[in-house]
Amino acid sequence: MPNPLYDRLFGRYAGQQTPFLHLPDGSVIAHDAFLRMAARFAHALTAQGLTPGDRLAVQLAKSPEMLAVYAACAQAGIIFLPLNTAYTAAEVDYFVGNSGAKLVLCDTAAEAALVPVCAAHGAALMTLDGDGTGSFADAAQGLPETFDTVDRSADDLAAFLYTSGTTGRSKGAMLSQENLLSNSATLAQVWRFTEDDVLLHALPIFHTHGLFVATNVTLLAGGSMIFLPKFDTDTVIANLPKATAMMGVPTFYTRLLDDPRFDRDLVGHFRLFVSGSAPLLAETHRQFEDRTGHRILERYGMTETNMNTSNPYDGDRRAGTVGPALPGVELKVTDPETGAELPRGEIGMIEVRGANVFQGYWQMPEKTKEELREDGFFITGDLGLVEPDGYVTIVGRGKDLIISGGFNIYPKEIELVLDDLPGVKESAVVGAPHPDFGESVVAVLVPETGATLDHALVAPALADRLAKFKQPRHVAVVDALPRNTMGKVQKNVLRDQFAGVFT
Ligand code: ATP
Ligand code: MG
Repeated sequence: MPNPLYDRLFGRYAGQQTPFLHLPDGSVIAHDAFLRMAARFAHALTAQGLTPGDRLAVQLAKSPEMLAVYAACAQAGIIFLPLNTAYTAAEVDYFVGNSGAKLVLCDTAAEAALVPVCAAHGAALMTLDGDGTGSFADAAQGLPETFDTVDRSADDLAAFLYTSGTTGRSKGAMLSQENLLSNSATLAQVWRFTEDDVLLHALPIFHTHGLFVATNVTLLAGGSMIFLPKFDTDTVIANLPKATAMMGVPTFYTRLLDDPRFDRDLVGHFRLFVSGSAPLLAETHRQFEDRTGHRILERYGMTETNMNTSNPYDGDRRAGTVGPALPGVELKVTDPETGAELPRGEIGMIEVRGANVFQGYWQMPEKTKEELREDGFFITGDLGLVEPDGYVTIVGRGKDLIISGGFNIYPKEIELVLDDLPGVKESAVVGAPHPDFGESVVAVLVPETGATLDHALVAPALADRLAKFKQPRHVAVVDALPRNTMGKVQKNVLRDQFAGVFT
């Protein structure tokens, strides 16, 4: 029976002894062994009473077993719902309640705290630890290693992926099989993934980047992954010689650049470095090229849409831009007030349409209506512009826009100037309430090692580079910017922290 997602990503490998996952201990899981594990898990899920369309919430350490649970869900038609491992029981309570998950899988260490949460929502709870043990693994022990794949169509839902919650409460994006497949097929093609690729995988798999971009692309192309539990510089450096490609968040690349062992010789054989999930500093792009000779390929996407734009494989990988729209994705920039399309070069709201765009937010019809237009365009919440040649530049999130004395201020513009100052490692600009201007600009700076920074030093350097109303009226110096697990700067945290500086 047909099940496009399972068939195209997993089923095609039945009986194949080709390598799929290379583990840190040197062992390899072949495609066939992975599929047999997934089939046992599909039986275990079915035995728990889960039927097609039910939700399975998993908050698990990254492991081959967790990935096999994803495959099991695809095969059994169950909606896979991975959760950030950093979430506390109180946060998981929202996700279990909101999603109506029938079963929750967690680490043994989290079990006690989740018992009352699951009881409150009538969900069952089982464990699956990073080493592959736990009550769920026990339940799957000895079950058949083949499973009759459940009939599904491309329009059926495959996953609920909650957004990162950077701008507010996480929303459950309903993703269909077609949403996932269409995007991975495009990416595998434009990034030229083949069965010869070995992807160094150090991203979490509860997020679209590590789960759908990295894993689905590898599975579609037939390659394998060096599957690391997390990003650890030593382990990554030890494994780079065996890989052909890596996908990472910008912090992966800055951490590698901080290490003198990371050089041209180590990655001379490499085919591709991809960056996304947060903006890559143009400076990092340049340093990376100087050090390795490789130009990082930056792309832009989000939970609701998978990937929308990508710098080209061949051609100009332009630092500070996210490249043109991918084939099959329509992208336009609109006036945030009226929704009217703006001419190229003007900053406005980025909207996208295509087979990649999600089916709506689960249990949030109002939110869905606000952000997903009837004609299929999704209002991303990101502000940006399209160059005449189609390259897209993101200038920040709509919610981070600062309006001071009636003027729009795009934090990114100020951050670029600040990042350029001697002694500044990185910066974040946020607005804080101001009695005269409504809002005014706060600059939060991270100094280079050994550098001293303060307002008196920074202000004169900005005087002739930024219009007066854009110049920060408050400068704070911090050791590090607050970031979530995907490396995104948490501007809401900074806004709260500096909310009182002008009042
Ligand atoms: P929430 O929607 O809950 O506030 P979130 O938007 O951070 O959280 P994700 O879907 O994980 O959740 O992240 C998508 C966002 O990440 C995009 O809307 C964009 O703001 C940012 N992003 C992704 N890739 C890039 C990139 N290459 N450059 C700049 N920003 C990026
Ligand atoms: Mg978002």
